Amino acid sequence: MIDFRSDTVTKPTDEMRSAMAEAIVGDDVFGDDTTVKELERLAAEVTGKQAAVFVPSGSFGNQLSLLTHTRRADEVICAEGIHIVDHELGAAALIAGVTMRTVNSPDGMLRGEDIRKLFHDPNSPLDAVTGLVALENALSNGRVVPLSIMKDAYDTAKELGLPVHLDGARIFNAAAALGCEVSEITACCDSVMFCLSKGLGAPIGSMLCGDEDFIKRARKNRKRMGGAMRQVGVIAAAGIVALTTMSKRIGEDNKNAEYLSQKLSQISGFSVIDKVDINMVFVSVPSSLNQQLLAEFLKKENILIIPLFEGMMRFVTHHGITKNDIDTLTELIESFCIGHNI
Ligand SMILES: *Cc1c(COP(=O)(O)O)cnc(C)c1O
Repeated sequence: MIDFRSDTVTKPTDEMRSAMAEAIVGDDVFGDDTTVKELERLAAEVTGKQAAVFVPSGSFGNQLSLLTHTRRADEVICAEGIHIVDHELGAAALIAGVTMRTVNSPDGMLRGEDIRKLFHDPNSPLDAVTGLVALENALSNGRVVPLSIMKDAYDTAKELGLPVHLDGARIFNAAAALGCEVSEITACCDSVMFCLSKGLGAPIGSMLCGDEDFIKRARKNRKRMGGAMRQVGVIAAAGIVALTTMSKRIGEDNKNAEYLSQKLSQISGFSVIDKVDINMVFVSVPSSLNQQLLAEFLKKENILIIPLFEGMMRFVTHHGITKNDIDTLTELIESFCIGHNI
């Protein structure tokens, strides 16, 4: 199957599977699992933070960060449309007990002036306490936030005495798109979550990174949330391969997405929405196109797509997708459209 639905569909590589089979494990709650410790060391190193903690998922890492940074009834300043607000099922209200105070930013990016506008004076008797700024890079819409905007937001937050969390689920794709090191992006935050289980290809897991004290407190909260795991080195071993090997090739996925967007825009009635920065392509498609039928047609040809939106389609590239696969996809879409008079 050629799977364009998401980069979460990636399967562990052969190198990952053999690393998993041979992993040295121990009880990680007792601090005995040397493989997890090595993964956490590597994650801290690549993000330029003092420490890191392994968590089961990206949402878990984000929510753990909110819980650890804030107090109940605090407000978190962020842009509308970020994953923490739109795709984590209201967990911020349930777990940390905070309110997400969103800015309607046309490009989805949060700037210093936005933070200044929403910040509450801590001495005000009438306002909730502003407890945190939450950033995202790359954004869920496939765009990357330039370092200058990240730095502007971070500097403003620091001036106001606020901690900054970064949702960097696809931070390796973002760094490749920006042509910089991951640590240059994470220099603009106090804590960062990134996913091992998306473009990096590991089967499970995300990392939360920050300073020693923050990660120590996060470790306790992880246990409270039921996310402390035992002989988890079997999974962490795949994470190490993700960080040391797979991170080096991730720029290819961005380039393939660019190639896919060019091919798609040659199909009559298809036009690419927004510039593609990372491994995701969003295209507007003719309203007469029945995406469900198209998906069924492609499935018979061993290609998977996901109809997510009306009049718009999203395709995601990853290490399981080659240029040839992209040619096959676009040729089949074209023949489907011609066959259905679209
Ligand atoms: C996928 C994703 C997450 C959450 O990851 P899960 O592992 O699916 O919980 C968080 N933020 C962004 C921007 C994502 O794309």
